[in-house]
Amino acid sequence: MSVSQNLVVMKFGGTSVGSVDGLSKLVEITKQTQKDWKNVVMVASAFAGNTNLLLKIADLAQKGNFLAVETKIDEITVRNEKILLDMVRDASKREKANLRLKPLLGELKLVCQAVSVIKEISPRVSDLIVSFGERMSVIVIETILRDAGVRAEAVEATKLIVTDDVHQNASPLLADTIEKTNRRLGALLEKGGVPVVTGFIAASRSGQLTTLGRGGSDYSAALLGVALKADEVWIWTDVNGVMTADPRLVPEAKTIPQISYQEVSELAYFGAKVLHPKTIRPVIEAGIKLKVLNTFEPDNPGTELTAGASENYNEEPIIKSVTAIRGVQLVTVEGSGMLGVPGQAARFLSAVSKTGATVPFITEASSEQSITFAVPVAYTECVVAALEDLLAEQIEARKIDQVKTTDEVVIVTVVCPNMQHRLGVAGKIFSALGDAEINVLAISHGSCEVSLSLIVGVEAMQPTVQVLHSLTAL
Ligand code: ADP
Ligand code: ASP
Ligand code: MG
Repeated sequence: MSVSQNLVVMKFGGTSVGSVDGLSKLVEITKQTQKDWKNVVMVASAFAGNTNLLLKIADLAQKGNFLAVETKIDEITVRNEKILLDMVRDASKREKANLRLKPLLGELKLVCQAVSVIKEISPRVSDLIVSFGERMSVIVIETILRDAGVRAEAVEATKLIVTDDVHQNASPLLADTIEKTNRRLGALLEKGGVPVVTGFIAASRSGQLTTLGRGGSDYSAALLGVALKADEVWIWTDVNGVMTADPRLVPEAKTIPQISYQEVSELAYFGAKVLHPKTIRPVIEAGIKLKVLNTFEPDNPGTELTAGASENYNEEPIIKSVTAIRGVQLVTVEGSGMLGVPGQAARFLSAVSKTGATVPFITEASSEQSITFAVPVAYTECVVAALEDLLAEQIEARKIDQVKTTDEVVIVTVVCPNMQHRLGVAGKIFSALGDAEINVLAISHGSCEVSLSLIVGVEAMQPTVQVLHSLTAL
């Protein structure tokens, strides 16, 4: 069956569910939303910091340090108990929740014990360990909501979202997901229940637990929205929507009330953590309204995503938003032997992709004698090795110089609405950077005409973002 009318999916991030303050707001927001909406589906992340803590636990287990693992698992236990005690008045409900959490904590300990004996961990086991964050948080949230009179029901997304078996970064299989989600949630919604679904986790067709990648709960919400033909998907976080920059980097950053899907995709892809980049596409294709809202200021209208860019782009600022990705290095291949050889770039990138590295930035010299791209620092060594292997003969024959790398750099991306129709945008950007004496190491113009990416040294990140952010007011 398909539950189609009047359905909103609300996702609460770790930042919203990690504290008594955030959870109290979550209860208020849920009750308020139930007044206006027939069906409310909630997606919840692990409590703030718990996913990192679980990854740390996995690492300690792999190193054989089971004593430290136990201490950290105790920290999680105490945190759950404290939140339940602070937020649930009914002692029997608290006890019931603790009884449901106990076997999960026991399983976590058992898995970690096994890892600490063999001192080896696979992506599949890492997914299993990290999954406990969301699997425990939905039990706590269900209990808090029930204590407040909401008919919540914790649901593990392993029963709803079906993926391939690429652990740590699984891709959904939409038809299976639609079928399972409607079957499992349809009856619950019909009874007036509020499903509280684990974000981030899913399962492969064979039933193995998978995860959608870090920050993936936003994506979970989008997938459930599509599967249930939701009218709207709301991402509740700890800031007033999508902003002109990360407010942690630029305190004077302002909310962008409306932004097109394409513009926000660029921002999300280039490091704006507020929205997981994969969230946007399924939602836009299904014509679902997407909003980013602040749990701690629920009356703030936040950001609404729109299908197209504003028609009145001349009235918009030159730059809509600035974002930065740290932790990348540039890799350059150059040499006269590259000139006019068809398919060179494709060969390089195919070798790079086999290492598993993502390439968020590429630029090629028009003389066709060099190509530079950015890869995550953790991958640089194996990317260089793969390229040297591929190019061994050409390097030997001196047709290609050595593969070169830089120190760690930062990709700063500016989103500029309708850049192709506006004169002087690049001029304004580069004169502002020149005036601030900022050295730009490389440039790439986003192929979708709404963004421009620059590479600067790590020390120049803050001033670059600040200078470019000042253009959001022009
Ligand atoms: P959640 O736990 O709700 O998923 P995240 O930490 O994943 O929250 O994302 C919210 C954070 O994203 C904000 O606290 C903010 O620091 C960061 N952020 C980065 N870029 C932006 C931006 N352009 N607009 C808003 N927030 C941003
Ligand atoms: N808990 C997961 C993470 O921290 C997923 C999410 O919060 O979106 O990456
Ligand atoms: Mg997030």
